[in-house]
Amino acid sequence: MCDIADEAFEREEWERELALKNRKKPEPPSAVCRNGDCGEASQPGTNYCCPECREDDEKWVRANQQRKVA
Ligand SMILES: [Zn+2]
Repeated sequence: MCDIADEAFEREEWERELALKNRKKPEPPSAVCRNGDCGEASQPGTNYCCPECREDDEKWVRANQQRKVA
């Protein structure tokens, strides 16, 4: 009984490790606003200079993704 429990536990651990390894690392925040050719310095820890730019760029990315699928 004990062995089976240990085995299940080990497999769980292994699967968790594998999941961590396979997970894509998030891209580091960009120092310059990613919205088109905005060119402003980003807010610390973000990819954009302001919430408006973030929304604009997310809309653009979404539109592009849809174009790829279609
Ligand atoms: Zn911007």
